[in-house]
Amino acid sequence: MEDYQAILDVFDQHHSFALSVHINPDGDAVGSELALYSFLRDLGKQVRVFNTDAVPDNYHFLPFSEVIQGPDDVQDYSPEILVILDASTRMRIGDKLCRTLIPTKAVVNIDHHDTGDRFGDYNLVETDASSTSEIIFRLIKHREMPIGRDRALCLYTGIMFDTGCFRYNNSAPVAHRIAAELIEQGNFPVDGVYRQVYESVSIGKMRLLAEVLQTLNLTQDGKIGWLWATQEMFRKTGTTPDDVEGFVNHVRAIDSVEVSIFVSELEDGRSKASLRSEAHVDVGKVAADFDGGGHQRASGCVIHASHELAVKRLVENTQKRMRSITNGNSGR
Ligand code: 5GP
Ligand code: MN
Repeated sequence: MEDYQAILDVFDQHHSFALSVHINPDGDAVGSELALYSFLRDLGKQVRVFNTDAVPDNYHFLPFSEVIQGPDDVQDYSPEILVILDASTRMRIGDKLCRTLIPTKAVVNIDHHDTGDRFGDYNLVETDASSTSEIIFRLIKHREMPIGRDRALCLYTGIMFDTGCFRYNNSAPVAHRIAAELIEQGNFPVDGVYRQVYESVSIGKMRLLAEVLQTLNLTQDGKIGWLWATQEMFRKTGTTPDDVEGFVNHVRAIDSVEVSIFVSELEDGRSKASLRSEAHVDVGKVAADFDGGGHQRASGCVIHASHELAVKRLVENTQKRMRSITNGNSGR
């Protein structure tokens, strides 16, 4: 618990703060960030929140989501403390913010990714935590502040998202216990939160999924499967690479598949990949080989190659790791 006190001391001893999270923010990034925003405000601090990418529509229901600003809004705001959440490297907040959002005193890194490089002056990194939201929950409790309705909703959403609705192996008993307490404190309808996050899909995204599923392919042994989305598919369905959240899960649902890959063709010709592993292969390491990162079972990276070539390289890297597991190494 010493780490918690050190971070709380930094909060207590400073006045002005900026918060940021990784590009293409997800439920945990936004949820943890907004709960921390509210907590720091209740401590009487000046706090501003800057993200590279806008909050996805399905998270607009979160309290305080309207305070989030873009990289062009920083201008000459120069906080004492910059807190970066849910990002394994400082660069993950995006190029422009990385250049312009410079604190005068210190950077605080709060995260749960395995592949992180402890880039902060202060680091609160718990790789066993289900989510960054779980860490923020403990931080607020350590300060003996009430969680309250609004922060409960933000943190529950973050934990729900990062555990895949309590289905992944990071859904430890502690994640369930915290979720139970958040539901009690927040008194929100859990089915309503689920519906906001997962069942507010646009018809364009559903049509995109129909196109993407046509690209399904497996290695001969059926252990690695992949899907991709091309620029043409985005154009045809009026969608963008931001609309592919969850698509990789359609590959992992196949019985033989151990590693699932989803690749989006970006406008500039690069490819953004999402990887998921069912058990043995550490896809965090696969992604790290392509300058990405994440966790053992969920990771991502951006590759300077076409979607076909990106898949080929990722499959080869994964197969190499599978062979090394068969040969008795840990495969990680
Ligand atoms: P997703 O596939 O859902 O975008 O990401 C899965 C996990 O990998 C998340 O924990 C996410 O933060 C991480 N991740 C995704 N893309 C990248 C990337 O380009 N770089 C790094 N370092 N991590 C990534
Ligand atoms: Mn997270």
